[in-house]
Amino acid sequence: MNEKRKQRKKKKRPIAGEPYPVTRAVTHIRLVEVNPGKLAALDTLAPVYLALCQQYITLFCTKESPNKLRDPLYQTPLSERWHRVAIMQAAGIARSWRSNRTTAYQQYQTDLEQYRKHQADGQLSAHAKEPQWREWNMPTLREPCIQANVNVVKLETSQESSFDYWLTISTLEKGQPIVVPVKLADYHKAQLTDPKTQQARKLNSSVQLNKREGVWWLTLSYDEEVHAETAPDAPVVGIDVGIANFVTTSTGKHYGSFHPRMRARHKRDRAKRRRKAKLRACLKKKGVQKLPSASSRTGQRLIRHTRQEINRAVNQCFTDPEHEGVQFAYEQLSVASMRFKARAQNAYLRASQLGHIPQQIAWNSQKRGVKATPVISAYSSQECSVCHYTDRKNRPDQRTFRCQVCGFEAHADHNASVNLSRRIGDRQLRACRDRSAIKAVLMQRHESWKQQQGMENIRPVKRRKRVKSSAAVSSI
Ligand SMILES: [Zn+2]
Repeated sequence: MNEKRKQRKKKKRPIAGEPYPVTRAVTHIRLVEVNPGKLAALDTLAPVYLALCQQYITLFCTKESPNKLRDPLYQTPLSERWHRVAIMQAAGIARSWRSNRTTAYQQYQTDLEQYRKHQADGQLSAHAKEPQWREWNMPTLREPCIQANVNVVKLETSQESSFDYWLTISTLEKGQPIVVPVKLADYHKAQLTDPKTQQARKLNSSVQLNKREGVWWLTLSYDEEVHAETAPDAPVVGIDVGIANFVTTSTGKHYGSFHPRMRARHKRDRAKRRRKAKLRACLKKKGVQKLPSASSRTGQRLIRHTRQEINRAVNQCFTDPEHEGVQFAYEQLSVASMRFKARAQNAYLRASQLGHIPQQIAWNSQKRGVKATPVISAYSSQECSVCHYTDRKNRPDQRTFRCQVCGFEAHADHNASVNLSRRIGDRQLRACRDRSAIKAVLMQRHESWKQQQGMENIRPVKRRKRVKSSAAVSSI
């Protein structure tokens, strides 16, 4: 049984009909302080823990590869068990930092290569800037965040009715743990009840403790079995991700957008931040020690608002009756290419939210048991979905796709989503080492399309518009 479970865990892609576990978090459980000063022991522990964790983060980001089983290296007043928890948390943080950095660096190299090539060909546009690599900062723990396991924090069901759980937290004082009651809100209880059986869900033994603005918060988690609903031969719907339309599918639908009112709000926020930056610079020059904060509250609110809109759009796409029984293919954006894609105005702010869309697609796919595969997105917006002719000139403007060769015309995002829908299982594209290799493959496909059509002599024809509907849903 144990072995079987191990095997199942190894499998990356769930098989249709078979259950697989998804971990869900129950957040924002406030730790109540019944006796004043009880949480003081936790307050004393937090900075010590944070400092130790930070030491290992630095070690794992610079000198060693992240290893949660690494032998303890640094001196600390913390117990051996707490020490191990700190190493494990640091290894997790360093691992994701390293992999994100690698992806961004690869993208930078690709961008640079492309820039140099355009420079050599004299194709460089007047606005083009040479891509710059800025070394990433080391992740720093600013606010107390403790990812604890059962060895240091124990969660037990309370027998009394006034509280739901007891949390036993070991402290810096050996053999003197603190015991903190946990009271759940009604919505927490609803979340922790299985709607099918009406029974309480089994909680995972690891918990997270956060301190924000002087208050300690607890995050619990549980595993839920989700059944993979997608048949192996399910038709593929492609998803193109953008800011004008958050989600555009190859079935020709748009979901959510960065509408004009939000755009105006972003613009105002940007102007405000610029004024603030000027003020900061001015004060700094005069030698003022305490500068006003650089982050803006309205900016944070705008980001939150945009994310909510994105979540809603992705939800709508997944629950659309037209998409029942399909699988999705979506573009996996990297941070660097997101910046590239959101070149306009406050590029970074928008880029940070553009990246939220694929994350949300992945999460929706997981929780619904619907298959969604990230696919190579290079040239998906420049490739013609009819004849594969790939050229920047196919995009007369942001909205429009018009093929220079076959004359196919469509909404640009729709054309891209059709291309993406076909890229699942495209081994030839996946074998490409860089963007220029991908372009070469696409142009090869264009050549064979021309031969098939007996169109060796290229001449733009404007009559293939009807292909749009038949290309909408393609299956593998
Ligand atoms: Zn074409």
